[in-house]
This record gives sequence, structure tokens and C-alpha cells, in this order.
Amino acid sequence: MKQKARVAIVGYGTIGKRAADAISVQDDMEVAGIIKRNLTHELYSAVQKGYPLFALSQKSESAFVNEGFTVEGYLHSLLQQADIAVIATPDGSASEYIDICRSLNLPVIIQGGEGHELAGISFNSEANYSEALGKKAVRVVSCNTTALTRALYPLDTEFGIKKVRATLIRRAADPNDIKTGPINALVPETEIPSHHGPDVNTIIPHLDITTTAIKASTTLMHLHLVNVELSKTASEKEVTDLLKNRPRIRMVSNKQKIRSTAEIMEFARDMGRPRGDMWENVIWEDSIHINGKELNFFEAVHQESIVIPENVDAIRSMLGMTNGPDSITKTNIAMGINR
Ligand code: NAD
Repeated sequence: MKQKARVAIVGYGTIGKRAADAISVQDDMEVAGIIKRNLTHELYSAVQKGYPLFALSQKSESAFVNEGFTVEGYLHSLLQQADIAVIATPDGSASEYIDICRSLNLPVIIQGGEGHELAGISFNSEANYSEALGKKAVRVVSCNTTALTRALYPLDTEFGIKKVRATLIRRAADPNDIKTGPINALVPETEIPSHHGPDVNTIIPHLDITTTAIKASTTLMHLHLVNVELSKTASEKEVTDLLKNRPRIRMVSNKQKIRSTAEIMEFARDMGRPRGDMWENVIWEDSIHINGKELNFFEAVHQESIVIPENVDAIRSMLGMTNGPDSITKTNIAMGINR
């Protein structure tokens, strides 16, 4: 492999543009290019940032060239000069790209909106980094699954978990989405368990977890109420210290006047985070409550950004660049996580 791993980004929307930015601040990888399908506003900032632009079709190439952009080539020429591809296209559209990458023997990362079977390995940096080592296809799980796994994996490792019952209040749409609703309703997902619990099992198979989900008319973040029956007793302090010291968990509290997802997003903006992103699980420290072996807490999840550090780590694992803890530290320092 060359000095820096060259990463092709296919699909430059909510996840793709954030993945590109996170990759470009690492010292051991770079963006080989991005694939855009349509002329959208994201193109202007991508070109400003110096990401080489590739087109999906002649039609999109013409549209880009007419707008004054330089197009470096098509999908195959990008993939041929890359060491790995990150696919971040809408749910259900990654399979054609997996096939193309397989035909080129190119490792490929897909996102959580795709099924586990498509890659065969679902990924979380702390829980199963080494399982992705040298693999040709890996799925970085969704925002909700990433958050649940980040919180539950250390609890299971430290205290053991008998069962988890979690309720997910899900944001209805991303902030830039003008098509999805509801705009004034709560929509319970009547299929119980919701798909999130089984999705956590793709990473921690033995966990007894049931999740329920409600879609709410908000775009900012998801909110989880997590109820865990531990295998042994633990104090609130032990649980708090354990979670507080994880690399991608941030504690907040009512004392700091952080009482809502709105205030968390303001906090991220005040910290100067790009796009106001919050890459960590945000747990309300004052909500951590133990009754015997029963633990409850609230966490908030910034759906647009939480999976981005995991995409960076998955690249290192698949290309055998370093071990899990080193990758997590490297990614965090470069992105400014937990600062
Ligand atoms: P998005 O709609 O914001 O972006 C997708 C991009 O891909 C757009 O730029 C679109 O023009 C482009 N595109 C559409 N069809 C394409 C095709 N066939 N080939 C190439 N490009 C195409 O989507 P997103 O939110 O970034 O989601 C991408 C993946 O990440 C999905 O699997 C989703 O489930 C997952 N994910 C999304 C979020 C989130 O909150 N948005 C969180 C975690 C995971």
C-alpha cells in the first residue's frame, strides 16, 4: 500500500461528506475522490476542499462541466486508483457497488441502512474492530445501533448484562430533508422488537435485547431510554466512571443546563464542531440510576455524525493499518473527539 490509504467516497450526502472530511484530517489516509450523481450544493464545498470529483454518468459529467467543475473521470477510474471504497448512498442501493468493488478486489465499507448479510460483518470500533481485519466488505452499523453498542459493550464486559430493554425516540428526518415527516405527530413503530435490537446482535450476538421505537417530529437527534439488568450489582459511580471513560461517550447534565437535544446541538456548535456535529453518545450523567442490578439512563444520538469515526476505524481495520485502540485514539485526536 502507498504511504496513505486512498479512499473513494461513493455517495456524497449526509454521511459521505462527513466521512470525506474525517478521512482528510487523518495522517494515514486521504480522499482519492468522490462520486456525485447529481448537481447539488454539496458539490461546491467539495470542490473548494479539493476533493477530486468523479461522475456516475455522462449526463452528470455534462451537468458538472457546464457548471465549471473539473471532472476527473467515472466510477471505475476512481475505484481503480483507490485502496478502499466507502459507499454512502441511500438505503438499498449499495449492492451494485459491492459487486463492482468485489470484481475489482477492492475492499468496501457500506452503511447501516443496508442489511447485515450484504457485507457479512457489522462493525463497531470498540466491540469488534479485529473482526474486520483484512475483510473485503464491512458494514458500519446505523446511528442507533452504534450508540447502543458503544454503551452496552463496556457494561457487558465489566458487569455482564442479563437483558436490555431500550426505547428509542427517533428523529423523523435529517435537518436538510424537506420530504419526510411527520411534522406534527408521534409514530410508534408497531413492529416489536424494532430492528435496532436485532441489529445490535449482529455485533454482540449473545445479548438479550429488545428495542421499541417511536418516530418524533424533530430533526436534531435521537433520544434513547436504556434499561439494563446487570448480572452483578454496581454502584451509580462505578457505572458513571466506566461510561465516562469510554473514548466516544460524553457526559452532560442538567447542572450544565443541558436538558434537551436542542441544547446539545447548541453545545456542539459552540465548541466549533464542523456542521455542529456531535460524534459521541451523549449521556445525561444525572439520569444514571441504579436500583439493585437494574440500571436506567438517557442518551442522545446525533444521527448525522455518530457513525463517522467508526467509518475511519473500519478503514484501518480492513486494510490492517493498526490495532483497534490505536485507531480509536488516532481518529479521535485527528477529529477532535472528546475535546
Ligand atoms: P443521503 O441521501 O444524505 O446521501 C446519499 C447521497 O448519495 C446523495 O448525495 C445522493 O445524491 C447520492 N446517491 C443517490 N443514489 C445514488 C447512487 N445510486 N449512486 C451514487 N450516489 C447516489 O443519505 P445518507 O443519510 O448519507 O445515508 C447514506 C447511508 O448512511 C444509508 O445507508 C443510511 O441508512 C446510512 N446512515 C444515515 C444516517 C443519517 O442519519 N443520515 C445515519 C447513519 C447511517
